[in-house]
Amino acid sequence: MGRTVRDGLRLTAEQGQFVELAREFAAGEIRPRGRAVDEADVESPLDVWDKASALGLTSFMLPEKYGGGGVTDLLTQVLVQQELCHGDIGIGNLLTSNGFFGAPIEHLGTPEQQERFLSPLGTERPPLTAVAVTEPGSGSDAASIQTSARRSGDEYVLNGQKTWISNAPYAEMFVIFATVDPSLRSRGVTAFVVPRSAPGLTVGPPIRKMGQRAIVNAEVFLDDVRVPVEDRLGDEGQGFAGLMRTFDASRILIGAATTGLARAALDFATAYAAGRVQFGVPIIQHQAVAFRLADMATRVDTSHMLTVRAATLYDQGHAVAQESAMAKLVGSENAMWCTHAAVQTLGGYGYSRDYPVERWMRDAKLEEIEEGTSDIQRLVISRGLGAR
Ligand SMILES: Cc1cc2nc3c(=O)[nH]c(=O)nc-3n(C[C@H](O)[C@H](O)[C@H](O)COP(=O)(O)OP(=O)(O)OC[C@H]3O[C@@H](n4cnc5c(N)ncnc54)[C@H](O)[C@@H]3O)c2cc1C
Repeated sequence: MGRTVRDGLRLTAEQGQFVELAREFAAGEIRPRGRAVDEADVESPLDVWDKASALGLTSFMLPEKYGGGGVTDLLTQVLVQQELCHGDIGIGNLLTSNGFFGAPIEHLGTPEQQERFLSPLGTERPPLTAVAVTEPGSGSDAASIQTSARRSGDEYVLNGQKTWISNAPYAEMFVIFATVDPSLRSRGVTAFVVPRSAPGLTVGPPIRKMGQRAIVNAEVFLDDVRVPVEDRLGDEGQGFAGLMRTFDASRILIGAATTGLARAALDFATAYAAGRVQFGVPIIQHQAVAFRLADMATRVDTSHMLTVRAATLYDQGHAVAQESAMAKLVGSENAMWCTHAAVQTLGGYGYSRDYPVERWMRDAKLEEIEEGTSDIQRLVISRGLGAR
């Protein structure tokens, strides 16, 4: 089980039970699957998804009125996310991916749209979903998207290409960000809910990638896809603000996911160092090894406390763009550092695919890239300090 971060939080019984459920599921169902999922390369472990769904672990973040677990405070979500990702960050992120889809609907959707689009996620066999922003020519600069949404009577006609879309090969519903006028940049960005069955929507082959293979990514092509006006989220031009609000929470959740991963690396390296003998003593008795573990533990706690702070402020209704960016930036860079340190602590065995730490190092790298690279997080933080 490993080390618990002491954070001074006093959880309610309900919060504690949910975190414990996630911890048990991570240890029993997620951790044992990590290696096989990595080897499978481009296949999501849908059996784990089904088991987690039956326990409410894929919909805990949804309001009860939509069949979810009603764990709507971000602080509990953060603690659950950390536990799931302590099992395996790729699988953990897969299990909570419908929260990312639900967020723009909660921020921008009418009560009728929320009922229509969120209720399917609260069932015992929820569909997988996806959020499509990124395009081949538009990554960090999300306001520059070119996928067009042209109004035609009671419909919009969508044309364009998305890339890197998580869950695209399995998703039954997409939130798609398009523009009603690219010259307006962020003020033209508009969000739509589009079912996979919409004529003209096609998904490309899986993109083969470095890690986190439990989630499969692909391109999405939109060729004269007709979307009824009632499936537009918010007004024309409100999509970008909805996306930023989505990121405020999702970046904190990445902070939590990466804390879980870093903690897994620390736990594994500590246990290994206690058992591995060189020069007649367990290697943890060599100060260089012990100090590396001490640095890992300090980084894990730093990541944890930044996510707890950001989630607490978010739950209190404060603007958290900076704190959220800090939680993601520090969490992902600490996960990279800690997984790298775990490989070093295991020596040659760290480099072997028979041990998980080389995989975790590959998994960690993604979080310095997706949902805004580390440079973009620094941009957000520095803008809060007055930079342009
Ligand atoms: C596995 C994976 C899953 C993903 N899932 C999704 C998804 O589900 N939905 C979705 O829409 N997208 C998704 N993405 C896309 C992801 O959000 C983008 O890859 C990310 O935003 C970076 O964009 P880019 O790859 O185009 O890099 P670019 O924007 O081209 O950046 C390249 C480099 O330039 C730097 N850079 C760019 N602009 C600046 C600047 N102003 N200042 C300083 N440095 C800068 C970046 O930091 C980076 O180092 C996913 C990506 C990956 C790899």
